[in-house]
Amino acid sequence: MTRLERLYEGKAKIVYATDDPDVYIQDFKDSATAFDGAKKGTILEKGRMNNAISSRLFTLLEEAGVRTHFLGLDSPTAMRIRRLDMLKVEFVVRNVVAGSLSKRIGYPEGTALKKPPLVEYYYKDDALHDPLLCLGHLEELGVVTPEELAEATRMARKIDEELQKFFAARGLILVDFKLEFGRDPQGNIVLGDEISPDTCRLWDAETQEKLDKDRFRRDLGGVEEAYAEVLRRILAEEE
Ligand code: UDP
Repeated sequence: MTRLERLYEGKAKIVYATDDPDVYIQDFKDSATAFDGAKKGTILEKGRMNNAISSRLFTLLEEAGVRTHFLGLDSPTAMRIRRLDMLKVEFVVRNVVAGSLSKRIGYPEGTALKKPPLVEYYYKDDALHDPLLCLGHLEELGVVTPEELAEATRMARKIDEELQKFFAARGLILVDFKLEFGRDPQGNIVLGDEISPDTCRLWDAETQEKLDKDRFRRDLGGVEEAYAEVLRRILAEEE
């Protein structure tokens, strides 16, 4: 498919227009950032690995009846996606306490949640550093209608159920992950963005070893190896 102008360049991806107004190309980069852009680096082959991992997971979700923006592979590092009008909200879904939730409520990392999943909403606003929002804030901002919020939250829970099953069969615990949704031209809520070790916490079920971007964030080493291991397990049959 022909790539036309570059519409958006983020920390981990570039989105291009194509000759079809309803189809974009999303190209995954090797660059990585953490802590609101303060830490920058490169994870070799990350673009190729995250493209392959996201493609597999979007396909799995489509098969489970979840609408996603995934249309097909375009190159080893890129996928064809549906054009969406993205919601200005990030959805974080949590099964086990980690990261900012551990800091917020004081539970140690690794604590199981009493009633998982916990779904959180963050405002996609760079100037405000993507703050956590309460339901009242969402209502006040009007960035999403109550119906859209209910539908995206329902989808987030369904996605969690499907992904947890899939990862568990491959010896991985899905600790938490971030989702982004958009509206298609008919107004349906559709899953966009990516699902990869950049946006999920994945722990080995036996050893609790971290196999995700926390290895980069926390300078744990073996970053590339962790992403490669997730890709290997995702492409493998059930273990
Ligand atoms: N996450 C993400 N992008 C963000 C913030 C969070 O992909 O801008 C993911 C992160 O990888 C983790 C989950 O969402 O899987 C929860 O992240 P958390 O709120 O704990 O933030 P962190 O402490 O990682 O900054």
